[in-house]
Amino acid sequence: MIVWWLRNDQRLSDNPCWEAARELAAESGAEVHAVFAWNGLERAQGLGGIPRMSPQRIAWIREGLEALARELRQWKVPLHQTEGSILDWLNANRPETLVYSRAVAYDERKQEAEVAALGLNVRRFWTHTLLTPDQIPGGLDRLSPTFTPFRHRVEREAFQFDLNAPAVELDVTSPTSSLQAFPFDAGEAAALARLNAYLAHPDGAASYKSRRNGLLGSEFSTKFSPWLASGALSPRRIWQACLDLEDALGGSLEVEWIRVELLWREYFQWVAYTAGASLFRKRGFREVPPRNGFNAKAFQRWIDGTTGDALVDAGMRELAETGFSSNRARQNLASYLIHDLGLDWRYGASYFESQLLDYDPASNWANWAYLAGVGNDPRPVRRFNTAKQAADYDADGAFRALWLGA
Ligand SMILES: Cc1cc2nc3c(=O)[nH]c(=O)nc-3n(C[C@H](O)[C@H](O)[C@H](O)COP(=O)(O)OP(=O)(O)OC[C@H]3O[C@@H](n4cnc5c(N)ncnc54)[C@H](O)[C@@H]3O)c2cc1C
Repeated sequence: MIVWWLRNDQRLSDNPCWEAARELAAESGAEVHAVFAWNGLERAQGLGGIPRMSPQRIAWIREGLEALARELRQWKVPLHQTEGSILDWLNANRPETLVYSRAVAYDERKQEAEVAALGLNVRRFWTHTLLTPDQIPGGLDRLSPTFTPFRHRVEREAFQFDLNAPAVELDVTSPTSSLQAFPFDAGEAAALARLNAYLAHPDGAASYKSRRNGLLGSEFSTKFSPWLASGALSPRRIWQACLDLEDALGGSLEVEWIRVELLWREYFQWVAYTAGASLFRKRGFREVPPRNGFNAKAFQRWIDGTTGDALVDAGMRELAETGFSSNRARQNLASYLIHDLGLDWRYGASYFESQLLDYDPASNWANWAYLAGVGNDPRPVRRFNTAKQAADYDADGAFRALWLGA
């Protein structure tokens, strides 16, 4: 039996793990089985008793797995789910070969080390990042402490990806007009439909840079992140589709900016890899002496969206109700917890971890560390003035009215 251990891998296209599993099966005649292990996370609690996963995030992952299981059925590949640990499942089933994708964050890498100790025949691939460690300009050992040099060096390399996946067929579909930020389904088919629609529509990718700081509705930014987190969408595929669109348009800074944002994601993946456990520490990986403490009542008001700051309260209610939050809102929510309430940033990060459909350890914890001044920000303090932000980005008050019911 060949086992494909699913981690962030809810897709069949542009997925070296799936390609390898199929090749191995064709060579050996063995059956392929896919397995996803919840590792007890559905019921686990993190810092301050915050559940590691909200019901919405659990449902998002489950729906994506169901969509993948339907695809795999056509290949006669069963998808197993276990609530327990992957180690127990592998010990019980002892596959001939185990195929899986590499991860960057500390706990996930620890788990890989434990799996390696089982002594199975293993094939592993990088499926969640744009680059592999050997492609990082200058090498992982010399990863820049700030984003901009990393970005310029990667851009100079002009990476192109040979995807072994069908090209995205652009077909101008009307954008989904929804006030909800994320009215989409889980799974690869929904992800590709969104990629297709967003790239094709003139109000989508072709105006991304101008519109990306919006707060309200589904169309102001790509909304790729929940599928990127579950692996239903490959970052290489998005990158290549943007390059193709830029070519077709004769160059477009609007579209190019999606790739710049993907480089933020990429940068934080490798920051997480090099930081290890220190990414999750109060002092961060820069060992900045802690300033903030903890106040349970203030934290609860932040969670409930009852701080009295209308932008923050609207943003927190949107997050709790939908599992999504725009980048602009997230920055304000995080800055408010850290700089206005004076709370330990890790509690905010843990709450986001629980709620966000797009939760990704690297993106979440590195962004929080950045805003808390213990990460990769060249500026010592990055505090958002929420009143000014509301005036700039929610001038007509529609975002606040939607979530506060005013
Ligand atoms: C405190 C905080 C916590 C965050 N936690 C997460 C998280 O857990 N998971 C997550 O995917 N993103 C996280 N982000 C980054 C960013 O807010 C989301 O990726 C973005 O809002 C998702 O919406 P979108 O796909 O429409 O983004 P777009 O604006 O369309 O950007 C395109 C893609 O670029 C990447 N991207 C954009 N901005 C960032 C960024 N600052 N850091 C890393 N990648 C970025 C994402 O993959 C995104 O899908 C966090 C940001 C902050 C400030």
